[in-house]
Amino acid sequence: MAVERTLSIIKPDATRRNLTGKINAKFEDGGLRIVAQKRVQLSKAQAEAFYGVHRERGFFNDLVSFMISGPVVLQVLEGENAIARNREIMGATNPANAAEGTIRKEFAESIEANSVHGSDAPETAAQEIAFFFAGTEIVG
Ligand code: ADP
Ligand code: MG
Repeated sequence: MAVERTLSIIKPDATRRNLTGKINAKFEDGGLRIVAQKRVQLSKAQAEAFYGVHRERGFFNDLVSFMISGPVVLQVLEGENAIARNREIMGATNPANAAEGTIRKEFAESIEANSVHGSDAPETAAQEIAFFFAGTEIVG
């Protein structure tokens, strides 16, 4: 295993319910370190570009609207095997399929409003981190 970094987003359904601290505790208890963090309001253009890979999907417009419906918390998480580890801590995309103890099982409202985003591979993690953070904002 190697030390990796991954991009995490605490989504608007979770910031609205004041769950940032409870979600961060899941990351920290799970062995990940929050090495960058900022709360922002995404623009429509940013949300469309970030989720560009899903542009052809039927849920794309709804997803973009949801992601700009309130503030998000952008984070870089660091740790051993951080990309896969974060996806384990998050749980399955659809909370109905998420394992006990995962963020999505405990907090997600629906398959769309599922509380967190996490990068899915080393290449996307690097791209997604660079999309939102300057190198100087990340302090390991
Ligand atoms: P993940 O976030 O687990 O990597 P995807 O990359 O497949 O999942 O999808 C990105 C996001 O799009 C999901 O987290 C969720 O917010 C939304 N989404 C995915 N599938 C659906 C769906 N069938 N209906 C509505 N929203 C969806
Ligand atoms: Mg994904």
